[in-house]
Amino acid sequence: MTVMVPSKTPATTSAPPSPSRPAEPAPPPRSEPFPPSPGRRALDAALYQLDRAADHLRLDDGLRAMLATPRRSLTVSVPVRREDGRMEVVHGYRVQHNVSRGPAKGGIRFHPGTDLHEVTALAMLMTWKCALVGIPYGGAKGGVAVDPGAMTSRELERVTRRYVNEILPIIGPEKDIPAPDVGTDEQTMAWIMDTYSVNTGYSVPGVVTGKPTTLGGSLGRAGATARGVQIAALTALGRDPEGVTVAVQGFGKVGALTALYLAESGCRVVAISDATGAVTRASGLDVAALRAHVAETGGVYGFRDADPLGHGELLELDVDLLVPAALEGVITAGNAPRVRARLVVEGANGPVTPEADEVLADAGVTVVPDILANAGGVIVSYLEWVQNMQAYAWGELEVELKLRELMEQAFGEVRAHAAGHGRTLREAAHAIGVERVAQAHQVRGLYP
Ligand code: GLU
Repeated sequence: MTVMVPSKTPATTSAPPSPSRPAEPAPPPRSEPFPPSPGRRALDAALYQLDRAADHLRLDDGLRAMLATPRRSLTVSVPVRREDGRMEVVHGYRVQHNVSRGPAKGGIRFHPGTDLHEVTALAMLMTWKCALVGIPYGGAKGGVAVDPGAMTSRELERVTRRYVNEILPIIGPEKDIPAPDVGTDEQTMAWIMDTYSVNTGYSVPGVVTGKPTTLGGSLGRAGATARGVQIAALTALGRDPEGVTVAVQGFGKVGALTALYLAESGCRVVAISDATGAVTRASGLDVAALRAHVAETGGVYGFRDADPLGHGELLELDVDLLVPAALEGVITAGNAPRVRARLVVEGANGPVTPEADEVLADAGVTVVPDILANAGGVIVSYLEWVQNMQAYAWGELEVELKLRELMEQAFGEVRAHAAGHGRTLREAAHAIGVERVAQAHQVRGLYP
């Protein structure tokens, strides 16, 4: 969390050769090779997916390089006063990957492991996600390398306000609109809205989405990502969900509500994990009771009406549907051969590595990719922003119907593309997203 001097976080993104990567000077030889960081791996995965789409679309090298390169990356130092009076300095980032289709859009993550590579990868995914579901945004992501679980609420407020102050010049309702992501929530968004508004001189609700409804947040936003995952999962299943067995990895904003909504649809949620452990019950977990247990104890560990399960075991359970809804890179070439679910729906961003993707495809496992499966969050963010710009709030039903319409439309397009070209749902989703961004860029032309 604390900045080391000299910093170990590379300021630039170096990577193995890739057709979509702009030319970089050769890195100096290293005496002791070390494995790439998780963030570096996430960026390599994102660039690999872009390459595949660019090959399929036969994009020229110039366009590939443009799409592989973030439009704007800002690294900031965030000094934070701890409760005991010490001052620490943490790294913060905001990356705007592309703005050809509209303002940049994407969440802000508070996680000790976040770095510029990871934030760049996630910003790129946001670009394709917004294009795929047809909302008029580019892609962005922010991150602050802090552990929110190890900070008091007042420390978190200070970090948030100071970070926002540093990125203030590049955000705004017409420029770049942040939202919640891992480790941030409605309260974080309220602090962001307030900090921006105080600096502007009047209330600007449209600068951020995922706010509390009292500040112009949309009805339905809190459960939107999970609702979208539910829609994607049920559409992919294509049959009566009654009794379908489900394992959910992650019990945060996305995982907990996804488990609840799937259980409400008739599915049998047999296993759930979070950072504290994993629990299982063959006859189905009582998801509402588990949420109450987590609210009380801080994690799923020790839930009475279930048996404990080894962490890695959840991903390898013999279930119909597996929902990784935590962090990226959890299904790898190492454990993919042991995945027994026939359907994987990505609630998190980037949970399946490209190597694992191939293993799963060869084994006939259907993977509904992140940029489709978890797009419900940014879809309702868009609806929130539209309401803010009109200063008019809609009812929850209206929001939910529009969410469903956009999710189903995007799913239908991905499925048709995949069937028509003999490609996986991920390849199809990326091809559609990348093509739309490339088209927007081409018709706008290059300035000057
Ligand atoms: N962080 C969410 C995502 O990865 C939501 C982004 C947003 O609403 O802008 O899609």
